Amino acid sequence: MGYAEVSVNSPIAQRRTFSYAIPSGLSINVGQAVWVPFGDKLLQGIVLELTDCPSVEETKEIAGVIESHPLLSPPQVLLARWLSEHYLSPLFDAVALMLPPGFERKVVTFISIPPTPHQHYISSLPREQGQVIELIQKRNRVSLKNLEKVLGKKRSQAVVSQLVRRGLAVRSYEPEPIRVGPKYEHYLTLKVSASEAQQEVAKLRKRGAIKQASLLNLLAQQHKAVPWAEARQRVNCNKTVANALVNKGLAELQQIEVKREPISYQGITQSEPLNLTAAQISALRSIQSSLSKTAERRTPPAVFLLHGVTGSGKTEIYLRALAEAVKLGKRGIVLVPEISLTPQTIERFASRFPHKVAVLHSKLSLGEQFDEWQRIRNGEFDVVIGPRSALFAPISDLGLIVIDEEHEWTYKQPDKSPRYHTRDVAINLAGLTGAVVILGSATPDVETFYHAQRGDYRLLQLPERVTPREGSPLPQVEIVDLRDELKAGNRSLFSRALSQAIAKAVAGGEQVILFLNRRGGATFIQCRSCGFILRCRRCEVPLTYHSVEDTLVCHQCNYRIPVPQVCSRCSSNRIKFLGVGTQRLEREAGYTFPQAKLLRWDSDITRGKHSHQEILSKFRTHQADILIGTQMVAKGLDLPLVTLVGVVSADTSLNLPDFRAGERTFQLLSQVAGRAGRGTLGGQVIIQTYSPEHYAIQAAAKHDYASFYDKEIAYRRQLHNPPFTRLACLTYSHANDTLCQKEAERMKRLLIEERDSKGIAGLSLIGPAPAFIHRLRGRFRWQLILRGAEPSAFLSQIPVPKGWVVDIDPVSLL
Ligand code: ADP
Ligand code: ZN
Ligand code: ZN
Repeated sequence: MGYAEVSVNSPIAQRRTFSYAIPSGLSINVGQAVWVPFGDKLLQGIVLELTDCPSVEETKEIAGVIESHPLLSPPQVLLARWLSEHYLSPLFDAVALMLPPGFERKVVTFISIPPTPHQHYISSLPREQGQVIELIQKRNRVSLKNLEKVLGKKRSQAVVSQLVRRGLAVRSYEPEPIRVGPKYEHYLTLKVSASEAQQEVAKLRKRGAIKQASLLNLLAQQHKAVPWAEARQRVNCNKTVANALVNKGLAELQQIEVKREPISYQGITQSEPLNLTAAQISALRSIQSSLSKTAERRTPPAVFLLHGVTGSGKTEIYLRALAEAVKLGKRGIVLVPEISLTPQTIERFASRFPHKVAVLHSKLSLGEQFDEWQRIRNGEFDVVIGPRSALFAPISDLGLIVIDEEHEWTYKQPDKSPRYHTRDVAINLAGLTGAVVILGSATPDVETFYHAQRGDYRLLQLPERVTPREGSPLPQVEIVDLRDELKAGNRSLFSRALSQAIAKAVAGGEQVILFLNRRGGATFIQCRSCGFILRCRRCEVPLTYHSVEDTLVCHQCNYRIPVPQVCSRCSSNRIKFLGVGTQRLEREAGYTFPQAKLLRWDSDITRGKHSHQEILSKFRTHQADILIGTQMVAKGLDLPLVTLVGVVSADTSLNLPDFRAGERTFQLLSQVAGRAGRGTLGGQVIIQTYSPEHYAIQAAAKHDYASFYDKEIAYRRQLHNPPFTRLACLTYSHANDTLCQKEAERMKRLLIEERDSKGIAGLSLIGPAPAFIHRLRGRFRWQLILRGAEPSAFLSQIPVPKGWVVDIDPVSLL
């Protein structure tokens, strides 16, 4: 008898598999989804291994298969194991990343007659059993739910068990269906001949029914059904006009099912490869050679770091490398940060590979995601594009993985197990499948660059922008010291230099972006008498002022209070708004530059599905002169009319208590600066700060990645931070602060004991300390940081009690 090692969808299962016997007659493969008995429940599981000897003496049998085809490929099974081991996550959490959208569903039990039923006479059966058999015979099978309606819950389960024991019935299991209906659209068709229609058109015109006449005329000229949405737009009429034609028997309005396609190819024409620059040619050559050598299995696949300033033509390299992979009979995955997955980005790929690009992301409906996943599995696409989760798409013949903006923190899954880093997982998957990896960035992660310097990755550089004027310079960056402004008596948000530059740009018909590393109104309020800052009672973070509702809001837990009249500590009424938010910036820009049209873009107003794009296209079509925004304005936009970018304050990100604050600031400033001068008009950037001498700001101003990297890597080495060590961040949360602290201290002692008894060198513990966000949703949080060569391997040997969250290779310590 064969056995299967199954990863079971239960929180108890943790990082292990369970052995199940494979019933004779059932064909089971690795990667297949099955039903397994677990305790007194029936649960979903995925087969990870087939074996002849089970890991325990007593095994239960697999109850049934969920889908006849395996859902995970063999490399994905190995990848899931690695994810669980490295990130110390439950195995099923890792497996679940690769399952079809909506896979985790409730079980529906069906009862049917077995293929070779025992001979019986219904009349000889007890009454209820006979009743059930009759029901099944009528409909082939019935769900247990339906039986329960007839016999009640207890009785129907008992009767079914009796029938199954007698061999008169069998149970089977299916996940309940995904509740998504097909999508319909209204279509209009002509019900009379075209010539009859034309006569009617003339009559309608005579009677003055102009709209009806034009709609009918439109239908008469088309030889097929016309989508109502299109007709309504072209004729500029409403539904009553269409209904009038329908009532006269001239037309028919029908609902027709349409296939969901996340990419609309309407208006997308195939784009041709560009003539590459010398730098692009040399980068592409290296990638090409690795792709073909890997395809012939002459070398293991390579990881490339494509370091190129914004606008240097990295995307063109991705497109060419993908085309190359496709030529070799392979397919590719392109990962982009969620925020850059704009229609613009998708279009660039879709137009080069028409109808061969799949998109996967969370803003699609579950139905769309499910359809797209199935079509990827059927091999209908050459390229899958999406945010980090697209890495787990069921794509076969994987030849290339591209990670654009590889330095982005959003590549780390933040708040859900497994807390994986997309880059590291991609490199692992590439090793398992033989795919080449391209990591692209203008400001590579310091750790990535270190690996490229050491030769672990191969470094490709595109040092210059591809612009209409070859080699045109990057924008001029000016640093303004805000301390000087205060001395000169300027208390406005705009330094003299920035305000002159804005006025000049707007007067010249050019566009301006103002960047702020925050959102909300004046972000916190402070008492001018005693310095008290109002904080959330539950989370301790400063409350943010929202001028629209005139309330204070906690951005951790949504706690809200009205703005107080007096200070709650000293009763002074000198409560003053401090800090700057996009709303205040908008207001101040409004009265400083009354002639300019303003547009605000931050996450407060872009919660909807399309508003990103709406705001962007408004700005692109020059319906506004100044765009005010947070992080979002920094990413990947290509706006040729923008000649000036103002960074209102560079200091907020610099002063965060995290060793990566400098890197973060450098990346942000470089990206923001990259927004200026994308067109022929050139560009200028002004950075306002209270710390103008900081190396991150200095290097960003000179577009000098190398000098930033040299300083930063020296600090990392000196302070034993990654890439010279690896980190694990352990967070414990509890409603009682003292208890929380005690548990964190107990854990520290336990870890030190373990370390010392095993004699592991070079493993240090930092903390415990209250987390930067000390209180979250009413619970206190204490943190321990483990630093060493392999904290994950060390921790895997230690049972981590409930209440602890372990983050391996954290990207943020806040
Ligand atoms: P990046 O991805 O590095 O920011 P892009 O690939 O977006 O750069 O290129 C910037 C602009 O230059 C785009 O408009 C792109 O179409 C154009 N471009 C890229 N490569 C070439 C080339 N070889 N010849 C002409 N234009 C190019
Ligand atoms: Zn006070
Ligand atoms: Zn709160």
